[in-house]
Amino acid sequence: MHGVERVWEALRGARRLLVSTHLNPDGDAISSELALDWILRSSGAEISIVNQSPYPDPYRFLPGIERIHLYNGDSYAPFPVLVALDCGRKNRLGDFVGRIECGTVVNIDHHISNDQFGDVNWIDPKASSTGELLLELADHAGVPIGPELATCLYTGILTDTGNFTFANTSPRCHRHASRLIECGADPAEISRYLYRSRSVGKLRLQARLITELHVDEEASLAWATLTREMCDDAGVSITDALDLVTIPLSVDGVDLGILFREFDEPGKTKVSFRSEGDPDVSILARELGGGGHPSAAGCTLEMETDDAVAAVVPWVYDRLGRRSRKPTLAMLRMRHPKGLEA
Ligand code: 5GP
Ligand code: MN
Repeated sequence: MHGVERVWEALRGARRLLVSTHLNPDGDAISSELALDWILRSSGAEISIVNQSPYPDPYRFLPGIERIHLYNGDSYAPFPVLVALDCGRKNRLGDFVGRIECGTVVNIDHHISNDQFGDVNWIDPKASSTGELLLELADHAGVPIGPELATCLYTGILTDTGNFTFANTSPRCHRHASRLIECGADPAEISRYLYRSRSVGKLRLQARLITELHVDEEASLAWATLTREMCDDAGVSITDALDLVTIPLSVDGVDLGILFREFDEPGKTKVSFRSEGDPDVSILARELGGGGHPSAAGCTLEMETDDAVAAVVPWVYDRLGRRSRKPTLAMLRMRHPKGLEA
């Protein structure tokens, strides 16, 4: 049976479902949860959407967003079905899932690094986004695409393709987008919420990140650090700052951008790699215990942010055989990041 058929078999009769997605959810993750909610709504099933991390503020316009619950330690009755969306590994859902009894695990994702942790897996790395897969699911299930569902699906495809600019932008996703606009998604309004409603603090944080960006033109690398202090000074939550991840790669001549982000809990650092697919950053992230796509991947290290920069930057130079005329402080403090697995 094809992936979509197996998934629909598992979902169609379920009376109670738990839906979740990866930690620090992005546009595709949030939109996919809401899209599945809209798809299953007419079936009368009881659906709980529970996430361990808050979603970025700009997504509050999405229809049905109030249905997403931030896990707060509540106990839940067992769920016969858990649906994991846009999530490459079970532990990326967060540890709350381990505290809830779940039956069949349904895993719907487009990450090539997905480890097939579900009982039912539908992994399509050719899809631009999980949103694209949910559109296929809606069609398979014969669910009509109303404006709410169209808005969610369009947002997932839009954000995961970097506004139709990344290498995963295909004729297929443009066809889907076109159809979703016909079904009631409003591209101008969605883009206004996402890209033209920024707080001044967010813009100032962006300015600071750019000012403090390290660029090694010789080696075609750029990296930046986002600390809690920077976010606090700007009055921006770390969740709302996640889209700044694209800044290092936006420099002309740079083919690998890295963002180091301090966690709320001390002693942990998130590393995000971005490229145009060459170098393949999913390989780098996997070697450090993470995963992702060839052009966007990440990992979490059990290290303070300064230490993570000092370890990872020279390791990347070494790993990619890049040379720099001007060694950075991080390179002078060179240490091999052994045992970085998070
Ligand atoms: P981001 O850098 O935006 O957090 O993540 C980029 C991509 O890499 C996403 O598709 C995400 O799923 C994947 N990714 C990020 N961090 C991790 C991680 O710690 N483990 C795994 N397996 N994948 C990650
Ligand atoms: Mn995605």
